[in-house]
Formats: sequence, C-alpha cells, structure tokens
Amino acid sequence: VIPENSDIVIFGASGDLTYRKLIPALYHLYVNQMLPSDFSILGVSRTANSDEEYREKVRASLVKTEKTDPEKLAAFCQHVGYQAINTLDCDDYGKLQQRLEEKAAQSAAPRNTLFYLATPPSLYDVIPASLAAHGLNDESTGWKRLIIEKPFGYDLETAQELDKKLHKHFKESQIFRIDHYLGKETVQNLLVFRFANGMFEPLWNRNFIDYVEITAAEFLGVEERGGYYENAGAVRDMLQNHLLQVLAMVAMEPPSAINGNVMRDEVAKVLNSLQPLSEEDLRKNLVLGQYTASELRGKELAGYREEPGVAEDSRTETYVGLKAFINNWRWNGVPFYIRTGKRLPTRVTEVVIHFKKTPHPVFGKDAPDNKLVLRIQPDEGILMNFALKRPGAGFKTQEVAMDFRYDELVDSNVLTAYERLLLDAMAGDSTLFARSDAVEACWRYVQPILSFNQDPHALFGYACGTWGPKEADELLARDNRQWRFPCSNLTDTEY
Ligand code: NAP
Repeated sequence: VIPENSDIVIFGASGDLTYRKLIPALYHLYVNQMLPSDFSILGVSRTANSDEEYREKVRASLVKTEKTDPEKLAAFCQHVGYQAINTLDCDDYGKLQQRLEEKAAQSAAPRNTLFYLATPPSLYDVIPASLAAHGLNDESTGWKRLIIEKPFGYDLETAQELDKKLHKHFKESQIFRIDHYLGKETVQNLLVFRFANGMFEPLWNRNFIDYVEITAAEFLGVEERGGYYENAGAVRDMLQNHLLQVLAMVAMEPPSAINGNVMRDEVAKVLNSLQPLSEEDLRKNLVLGQYTASELRGKELAGYREEPGVAEDSRTETYVGLKAFINNWRWNGVPFYIRTGKRLPTRVTEVVIHFKKTPHPVFGKDAPDNKLVLRIQPDEGILMNFALKRPGAGFKTQEVAMDFRYDELVDSNVLTAYERLLLDAMAGDSTLFARSDAVEACWRYVQPILSFNQDPHALFGYACGTWGPKEADELLARDNRQWRFPCSNLTDTEY
C-alpha cells in the first residue's frame, strides 16, 4: 500500500532515463489510479526551468511517445514541479529542502519522499551526503528512500566504497538499488514457475539437469552511447548485474517466503556460492569479444572501434561468454553457460534448462533431449521440448514442443518493469531490489574478468550479426554441447 502524501524527487530530471522511462512509468501509474491522490513529482537538475517550463517538457515528451488522454495528461502535469540546483554544491540543496518544507507545510500529515538518482554515477555519493546535510534523510517526518540506478560502482572496490558512503547517511532499508530486469514479469515468473509447481522443483537440481544456458543478445550496437559504453563493456553493463540476477532466480534455494530479506538472503547465498574464476577458468572458460565492421544483409555496419565516442584501439568487450559453476549441493558440477553481446543476430533474453538424457538410449542416442526454454524477452513465454514417436513404422523419435505465450494470457495493462519497481519502492517492498551483499557478491565474481581484460590477448573479434566469436562455440563444443539457436520455436520478429 502506498501512503498518501508521497513526493517523488527525480535527480537527473532532464536526462534520457527520466524522459524515456520514469515519466512514462509515473504517467501510466497515475492513469491507472495506482498513485496516491496526494503525490507530487519534483524534477531536479542543473538546467534552469520554471515549474511551468518543466511541465511543458514533460507534457511534450509524453505526447511524443505515449498514447495520452489530454485531460488526464493535464491533470498529471499539475502534480509536476521543478527545482534547479547545482547538484555538486551541498549548500544549494537548501533550495530543495525549502521546496519540500513548503509542500509539508500545506499537508496535514508528514510527507514521505522518494529520491530517484537518475544522474551520472559520480553523483551517487554526493547527492545522498548533501540530502543528509539538510536533514532530508530523517525519517521522523515520514519515510525517506533512495532509488539508485546502475552502475552501482565500477568494480568491487568502488562498489564497497559507495556502500560505505551511502550507509553513513541512509540505512540499508532506505536504499533501493534498481535492476530493471527484476521488475520484468517474466523474471518474476521464474520464481512462480519454480516454486508454485510441484512438478518441476523435484527435478531442479544436478541429478536431472545437465546444463543451463543464459543468453541476453542485442541486435543493436552501442548506437550513440559509445562514450558511456567505453567505460562499461558487456561485463559491467550486463553480466555483473542483470545476468547474475537472472542466474540467482534460476538457481536460488526456495525461500520460506517471498518478501524482502528472506528472498534476498537466498539470492545472496547463491551468488556467494558461485565458484570463483581461477586463472585457468579465465583462459579456458571465458570468451571476450568485440564486433568488427561487417556487411549484414547488404548493409555496411560499423565495427565497435568505428562507433562515435569509441577509441580506435578500444579494448572494451561488447561480448562475453562464460562457463560458470555454483558450488553447492543443488548445482555441483552443472555448468551454467552465460553469454551476452551487442550486434548479435537478434534481440533475445532467455534461459534454457537442458535435462539429462534417459539412462539407456533405447531409441538411439540421437533422440531429442528435454529442454525448457524460459523466454524473458521478446515473445515472452515458456517452451518445453520433448521427444515423441514419429508416426509410421518403427520407433523414430522427433522433437515436439508445448508452449505458453505470455501475450495469450496477460491483458495489456501489465506493469512495465519501472512501473512495478517504482510502486514497490513507494510501498517499501525491497524484494525485487538488489541488496548490498548481493551486489558485492556479483562484483567479487566478475572482478577477475575485469582484471584479465587488461591482457592484450583476451579479446576476439566477431562479425556483426553472428553469435559472437567462434571461440564461444568452442567453449560448448569442448563439452560436446552447443548453444541453443534462440529463434527456433518461439518466433522473433527482428531476425
Ligand atoms: P543523461 O541523459 O546524461 O542525464 C543525466 C542527468 O543528470 C541530466 O538530467 C543532468 O541534467 C543531470 N545532472 C545533474 N547533475 C549533473 C552533473 N553534475 N553532471 C552531469 N549531469 C548532471 O543520463 P541518463 O542516460 O538519463 O542516465 C542517468 C543514470 O541512469 C546514469 O547513471 C545511467 O548509468 C543510468 N541508467 C540509464 C539508462 C538509460 O537507459 N538511459 C539505463 C539504465 C541506467 P543537468 O545537466 O541539467 O544537470
């Protein structure tokens, strides 16, 4: 339940994330009557805007991207205001304090405040310290919460430092580290699929599962975000956060309840059980790649090093493929093959569970294996592959599929990831937000890769529109396996 009297303060109010994700999410929540009647949105950044000017920008951006109703849009914009401050100057936060105090003075009950940090990460410690200097972390007058966007730190050390700085001024229960993957219906569905079905959970372990694949492929390159990506790369941008969170959902032990700390205890436990990457793993079980200039369907595509904002001799990886293990009773010896990259043949995120073969191959060893495909995006759904008899003489087998498609079940009012997570933060439910120990476990796991990437021999080229460097295929071929070709069965439009 979201309390009345809630103010949402968005730092980075004129940025890409705010206009593209946050404002539309808040608008949809408003239209669907999911926000309290007494709420306000206060945009904060350095650019000078009056309340009216900012409202007009919000209105114009919503009209451009969303289906809007003029009356509802006008009513929504009445809740929007703006305060320009120099975000680097602690004294300037007095202006924000004053704005919030004015609001509180008009309100009968204490007001709650959600501070959303959609700014460059260099401000993630500056803003909370400045808020605290003005008493804006004090919960005696309504709750005060922070939502922090990724990247949470640049590596293990900086993530730990950031945590220390945040915890000086805000309690862990006030900090909501957003990972929009966790806001996706299909990622949450992994939990329901596993823990609400007696049929699957008994099989969900090393006795029955042969290996697991996790793929997050993008068709696009870095587009105009080369400058950002240069300092990130696929390991920081995707593996450290989204993919390891998905892995945790697939591999965690059943929690005794789905609530903030109980569930996040299990997430942290499984992430802390990831087998640390040894020197040998880095050489044998890791493939880093970078897309190169190539022709795709008659079109010349730039290589990563030719993209705007990217150094000519950049060593930033746009692809990572990895064989990971989890050292616990459930998963000992089961490989998790994880890959993510840009300029791959299509956009798809999916998890594939490969079950072990039957003990004796009475129908020949080419009989198809059982696979469960959990498609996270697009064409969200679940697909089960198994073998049946091909009609006719003899006992030839063929692979058949049973599928469930999300769009056949769900109405169009399903919440987007940002809508769901904004609501949860306002309701104080941290279940789907990353806790500091889990974030640290993820950084600890990827840290050897970040160090290894300095090695000049560690980066392989791959042509745009391919599934990454051939070395990534070899990673599985060595184990007599191959990556699933994600476009079969559940269709994909971009392919
Ligand atoms: P952006 O377009 O560059 O916007 C940055 C915002 O911060 C602007 O509103 C800017 O406005 C404000 N700002 C305040 N103080 C600043 C300062 N001292 N220096 C620079 N800017 C300052 O960035 P974005 O793409 O929206 O991303 C915001 C954050 O979200 C980043 O940490 C990013 O990593 C994260 N994120 C973004 C996306 C995405 O899709 N864009 C996705 C996931 C995470 P003024 O210049 O007016 O101050």
